[in-house]
Parts: sequence; structure tokens; C-alpha cells
Amino acid sequence: METGKREIVFHGIPASPGIAIGTVLLIGHHGNTYKMPEDKAISEDAIPSEILKFNNALDKTRAEIQDIQKQVQSKVEEKDASIFDAHLLIVDDKMLMNEVEEMIRKKTRPADFCFYRIIQRYVSALSVMTDPYIKGRTADIEDVASRIISNIQGQQRQVLDHLPGQRIIIARDLTPSDTALLDRENVQAFAIETGSRTSHTAILARSMQIPAVVGLQKLYERLQNGDFVIVDGFIGTVIINPKEETQNLYALKETKEEQYYADLLKESRLRPETIDAFSVQLAANIEHLNDITQAKLYGAAGVGLFRTEYLYINAQVLPSEDDQFNIYKSAAESLEDQPIIIRTLDLGGDKLSSHITSSKELNPFLGLRAVRLCLQKRQDLLITQIRAILRASAFGNVKIMFPMITCADEVDKLKEMVEEIKQELLKSKIDFNRDVELGIMVETPSAAIIADVLAQKVDFFSIGTNDLVQYTLAVDRGNENVAYLYQPSHPAILDLINRVVKAARNNKIWVSLCGEMASDPRYTPILVGLGINELSMSPVSLGVIRRIIRRMRMHEAEEIAEKSIKCKTAEEALELSENLLMKIAPDIVNIALKGL
Ligand code: PEP
Ligand code: MG
Repeated sequence: METGKREIVFHGIPASPGIAIGTVLLIGHHGNTYKMPEDKAISEDAIPSEILKFNNALDKTRAEIQDIQKQVQSKVEEKDASIFDAHLLIVDDKMLMNEVEEMIRKKTRPADFCFYRIIQRYVSALSVMTDPYIKGRTADIEDVASRIISNIQGQQRQVLDHLPGQRIIIARDLTPSDTALLDRENVQAFAIETGSRTSHTAILARSMQIPAVVGLQKLYERLQNGDFVIVDGFIGTVIINPKEETQNLYALKETKEEQYYADLLKESRLRPETIDAFSVQLAANIEHLNDITQAKLYGAAGVGLFRTEYLYINAQVLPSEDDQFNIYKSAAESLEDQPIIIRTLDLGGDKLSSHITSSKELNPFLGLRAVRLCLQKRQDLLITQIRAILRASAFGNVKIMFPMITCADEVDKLKEMVEEIKQELLKSKIDFNRDVELGIMVETPSAAIIADVLAQKVDFFSIGTNDLVQYTLAVDRGNENVAYLYQPSHPAILDLINRVVKAARNNKIWVSLCGEMASDPRYTPILVGLGINELSMSPVSLGVIRRIIRRMRMHEAEEIAEKSIKCKTAEEALELSENLLMKIAPDIVNIALKGL
């Protein structure tokens, strides 16, 4: 198809490999928690659907408030439960509603934006009042307003899991929960303005095998629904209105891509062993039970990281102990004797759940995330989850892992909790593996620095470089503006990894690495040379890493590792590793790193 329009190439960050050629579907802002509504014109035709969306959101919000009211009525005094009457009055305020509808019609702006604008006017009028009672009502209004906006935006979520056919999704942002919802049959690829290679959205794209490019600033405003584009997830480009010649080139690249993955798949039963017979365990990172099929297909020796927070993120109701037990048991059984490391829920940061996390934290990545959230506020969730994992441990090689550890005290508290739950299970004569291994993610600088202390308390470490890099270098892992500073081979990071491996070795525990660094061929020589026992990654990346390991000699890798930890810059260390890679696997450098 020759479009006749000018071809434009946008350069972003490659997030998930693959090529897609097709038509665009623009997705506006939405998500579990609400995003700042956009001031952008809608067409006249869209007015009725915006008004409908608004009314549906009001109905949904009313039902939610009534539901909460019922739940609290039994627990608090009547006068306290009556604050929800005030909330309902806001939802039913006819004047406010008419104003919003009128603004949608007259200004042709989306429902969330009109409602947000009008409510802001009310809030600022009230906040200048001196009467503390009236002032206090602004909090009620803001509370209900955020529910309504999130429900208006939520209406669009249905679009994500039911696309009108094969489409390339273009959005300013997709949260991890949006991405988890994507209709896998019909999403050919996605391209967004925000994010980086280690943002959870990018990680999910790789695991769902959806080609993706992130960090494409100003792309969204250049496109319209139905535009024709090419997404190249290998090198991180989006080509708008590709010329016929470009289309032919990419059609060829698509064929090459298929061949490349088919070849790698043929090697999936080969042992990940160096030429001089040192083996490295290769495991899979999974987000859902179904991902185990992919893990097996690509030859993973078990699951090195089960990100269980995805069981909570888009759930209408929280998963019960039995729900979780059934999932963990099926996973453990389907892996037979291979290990499965189940990480307790790592909610917070960019992984939010409307039932559990708060959207009000100023620095969510430094706030109530993972075990902090569980130990401080939601021990109930953790207890339910640990019970479910322990029960599943009777059916396979299950291990438990705790995320976001920063000090020894957290590990002690968590171990105590596990011990208490074991005692309860014993009393109730419920089967479980009494020697179930307990491990921690080493993903904060403090945990890496005190690795020697922590190693005495646990059975294994798993280095989470995605967060370790973010927290050590003070670089938000999802922020495209600082992506250039996100350097896994930075001397500070290599020093911490080396320290963790040594602490593990001194204390005779094993150490895995499950951050995205494990799946990046450029770092394989350094990581293997440093003595990491296991590399865990999205199943689709296993083939490339296996091929590199099989072409390597351990003494060469060790030499590279030794030199790299002495390098003064990230670039120097990377160059050493890449030189070895170029020598032993030029095909991988050319294809996986430079594109097909
Ligand atoms: C990590 O931080 O490296 C990791 C594997 O965990 P997550 O990406 O889920 O934060
Ligand atoms: Mg992490």
C-alpha cells in the first residue's frame, strides 16, 4: 500500500523485539488510578459516547459508594458511615452533571477533562473559605471526583482487551495493568511516549511477545486512527507512512525474524553450558500461569521469578487463598521437579491495584512498595499468600522469595511470619514442604551492601537489577528522559553485583539474577564470569543467551568480569564484554543488537 504521504521515522527505545506493519489505533489516557485528563478536541460524532461514558461512570461510582457504605455500616457508628451520604450527594448533584454535559457538547472536549475542569473550579472556590467544615468538604469532593474520573477513563479499558481487529496501538502511556489486559490476538505491536527498557510495561511486552517501542516523544500527536505504520521493536523505530520500498524491506525483515526465532527454538533442548563445560542455569520470569507453556517451549529449567502481583492488578476481587493455591499448585505440578520461585506480591511503584495501593504517594517507588506495604498495612494479604504458597509446596519444587528488602529486620519479621504460618498448617494437619527454601531479591543498594549479613538468613539471593540500577543510580526505570543514565554496567552496579555474588559464595547459598540485564546479550560474559549461578528472563530471550553461553569459555568470561569490575566507566566495561561477544557470536551482535 503506497500512502502517498511523507515517510517519517521516529526513534525511541526498543522494548520488545519484533516487527509489525499495520494500522494505528490511538488509545487515550486511562488506567487503574486516574491520569491527568487531556485538553484535546473530540469530534462532534464522539459527543454522545462521551456523555454515555460519563453517565455510566456516575452509575458505577454510585454503586461502589453504596457498596463501601454497606461494608462500613457494620463496623462504625452511624454518624461516621453517613459521610458516604455526602459522597452520594455529589454523585447525584444534577447541577454539576448538567454543567459537565454542556461543556462536553459546547467545548467538544472528552468527559474526563470536562468533569475535571468543573470540579477543580468547585474545589478552589471551597478551599478559600475560612469555615473549617466547608473547607473539609473539599476532601470529600476530591475523593469522589477521583473515583468518577477513574471510572470514566476505565470505560476505555474495555477497548484494550477487545480490539476491532488487528491494530498497532499508539498511546502516550500504558500502565502495566493496561498492558496486562491487551488483547493478544489483535495487538500487532504498541508504541508509547513514556517508559524505558526496564519499565514493567516493557517487561510485560516481551513476556507477551508483543513487539514494542517506548520513549517515543511527541509520536501520539502526529498520528490518527487508521494511519499506516511500521513498528520495529529490534531497533526502536516507528515509521509513519512508509514508502513502498520501506514496506518491502520490512516484509523481508519479518521473514528473517521468523527464521531467526525458528533457529533459536531448535536449540532449546541444548544444555546452557560453556565450551569448557561450566553450566549456567537458565530459568524463566513469568507473570501468569499460562506463561509456563512458553517457558517450557524455550527450554527453561524452571521459573526463576513468578511476579505474582499480576494476580491482583486487574482482579475484580482479590484472589483468595484457594484461588492462589490452585494457581501455584498447577504451576508447580506442570514444572514437575524443576524449581519455581514464587515471589510474594510486589505491588506499589508503578504496579498499582485499585483494591490495595494508594495513588497518593509522592514517590511511589520509594514508598509503601512490596514487603513494606505488606508488613505495614496488609499483613492479611501476605499471610493468605504465604499459606497458599506453602500448601502448594507439597506438590513440587516451590521456593518463596521476598521483594524489596532493605534491612535484616525485614527478613527476620518475614521469616517469623512464615514460621507461624507453618505452625498453623501443622496444627491443622495440612501438608507442605517443611524445608521450603526462602530467598530474597537483592534489588536495593542497602541489601547489596549488607549482603553478607543477609546471606546468613536466607537460602538464596536473586539480584533484581531493574531496581538495583534504578535505586543505585537514582534513575527512574520508567522515565524516558533519564534512560541514557540507566547503565547496568556502571562501576557502582558491577561492584554491587560482585559483592552479592561473593557474599553468597562465602555463605554457601546460590545466587540468581532475574533483572532484564540477564536477557541482554551484551552483559552475558560479565555476569557468567562473575559467577552467577542462574540467569532468569522472559522465555523468548532464553535462546539468544543459551547460544552465547554455549560459544563461551569460562576462563574468557572470568577475565572479562575481572577487568570490567575495575573499569572506571560503564562504557569501558560494556566495550570489553561486547568485544568478546563480537568474537564468539557476531550473528547475535548483528541481529539481536543492531536489528535484522
Ligand atoms: C528487578 O527489580 O530486577 C526485578 C526482577 O523485579 P521487578 O522488575 O518486578 O521490579
Ligand atoms: Mg524489582
